Amino acid sequence: MTSPALSYPEGSAAFPHESLVGIGGLAPHEILFLLDEAEQWVELNRHPQKHDDRLTGLTIINAFFENSTRTLLSFEIAGKRLGADVVNMHVAQSSIKKGETLIDTAMTLNAMHADAIVIRHGSSGAVQLIADKVDCPVLNAGDGQHEHPTQALLDALTIRHALRNKTGGSFNGLTVTLCGDILHSRVARSNILCLTSLGAHVRICAPPALIPADIEAMQAEVFHDFDAALDGADVVMMLRLQLERMQGQFIPSAREYRHLFGLTAERLARARPDALVMHPGPMNRGVEIDSDVADLADRSHITRQVEMGVAIRMACLDVLTRKVRRVEGWT
Ligand code: ASP
Repeated sequence: MTSPALSYPEGSAAFPHESLVGIGGLAPHEILFLLDEAEQWVELNRHPQKHDDRLTGLTIINAFFENSTRTLLSFEIAGKRLGADVVNMHVAQSSIKKGETLIDTAMTLNAMHADAIVIRHGSSGAVQLIADKVDCPVLNAGDGQHEHPTQALLDALTIRHALRNKTGGSFNGLTVTLCGDILHSRVARSNILCLTSLGAHVRICAPPALIPADIEAMQAEVFHDFDAALDGADVVMMLRLQLERMQGQFIPSAREYRHLFGLTAERLARARPDALVMHPGPMNRGVEIDSDVADLADRSHITRQVEMGVAIRMACLDVLTRKVRRVEGWT
């Protein structure tokens, strides 16, 4: 794979941010830097001995105020593979249930001298609020409808790996179709920002009620006809209906939704013959994606996304803690 590593600015100038709150605000070369940093971890994770001790002695707190399976486990594995002490804060048993404010929780975590804090929260902006209050790097593991930056990075890494023979690792000219509940999806938001920044053409497809009002500001092409959105696509990314974030009726029924916006084998035939099928999970099989498509051995990259997720999170934890570890050039 072609790596633009040599063209990066020196040391911390390659990634000058204290925290990773979103893809918005990252330059394309900073995104590529994180993808390139993750490659070594993709390699390591495929070996039986997958341990590196560069974060030994560091404490990472995973504070998840919203449910998670993949992301929490992935961050935990990432921190442990790099040798850190990883602690998961269980919100159900914490003082948040007793009415503690987010700021008080942030101050408490800060007082424990964490070296990095990974946060998932149901409110957009909550992660930035905490990042402004604590002394260590903060990594956004999903905040409300705002952003899920490591998901977008792992998706980009998955695409780059799967299509490298065709594209040489470039995103220029790729057509990526995102279909589903764009309105409530932080994954969609981060992916639109990430993929357009890297040069891909992004199509989004959803019923009008599930398209965000500010979509004009993003460089995505809007479709309401899924067949048209799929035409010639290189990548098809399906998104779950975020029922927990919906207040009111956004779709007539799951059956009707599947009929118009579900990815079936017949529909997939409209995309390029080698188009990748992706989904961030959790999937609602039989709603936004049919099982036979989700399980297509040669086309579905859904489990590959999970694999890339660990590598991306290792890269983010490594890069963001370089300053505290006094890595040369990271001041
Ligand atoms: N796991 C992703 C998220 O946390 C996608 C989803 O929940 O549908 O946003």
